[in-house]
Amino acid sequence: MISSLISLKNKGRDADSRIQTIAFFYRIANQLVDQGAYEKLEHYEEFRPDGVLESLPQGAHLSQIIAADSENEHSKSYDVPTTSKFLRDIHISTRLMEDFLELAKDNTDKDLETCGILGAFLEKGTFYVTTLIIPKQESTSSSCQAINEEEVFAIQNEGSLFPVGWIHTHPSQSCFMSSVDLHTQYSYQAMVPEAFAIVMAPTDTSRSYGIFRLSEPGGMRVLKECQEKGFHPHQEPADECPIYEHCSNIYKNSNLRFEIFDLR
Ligand SMILES: [Zn+2]
Ligand SMILES: [Zn+2]
Repeated sequence: MISSLISLKNKGRDADSRIQTIAFFYRIANQLVDQGAYEKLEHYEEFRPDGVLESLPQGAHLSQIIAADSENEHSKSYDVPTTSKFLRDIHISTRLMEDFLELAKDNTDKDLETCGILGAFLEKGTFYVTTLIIPKQESTSSSCQAINEEEVFAIQNEGSLFPVGWIHTHPSQSCFMSSVDLHTQYSYQAMVPEAFAIVMAPTDTSRSYGIFRLSEPGGMRVLKECQEKGFHPHQEPADECPIYEHCSNIYKNSNLRFEIFDLR
């Protein structure tokens, strides 16, 4: 998704939104893009909007999200995260996933995907997801493409939010990351190493949601080198790790408020 945005500046959008988009990329790039030097992440700009968190850490109910045991054979291979121990923790609201499903319901009933983008602020080394943006979008039963994405950047830029992840539905498919999903995830993870993808699959009886990231370096390397578009197979990473894995650094936080921008 993000990679398609880089071409925005060539698309004749109005000057203000172009400047906002470029400013957003410039800020994120300055702070995050150099994944090779992880120490550089210490220079993340920390920003906490007033009133978003109530009495953290005291009084908050936190629960780590771990992969369910009842997964099918297909998903067993990526049960053991290879890199998450180096990643910062991310808190999401306890209500985030169910609220998103509710917003997606009309599409889901019509077998159309819905996607949303998650913005977070960083405090004391932890990301707090405080914003769910539902962009204008075009979708089918197996894909979802945001349009007018400069509106998303304007909101993230305004709130000094990091694009830490995205969420989308699989209205009739199982809970997994398609090849197109993996390319979208690559765009996020190349900007923010902690970036994650939530897949909501209400009709998957073995697992109704999953939180995934590309393995590092294996999965990231495969996606970086892949030039294909549309749905296509990917080779296995050279390090024999699965191409993507479950995140183990995500926590549900009952005290975290979040705001929804539905731009549709
Ligand atoms: Zn998908
Ligand atoms: Zn590919």
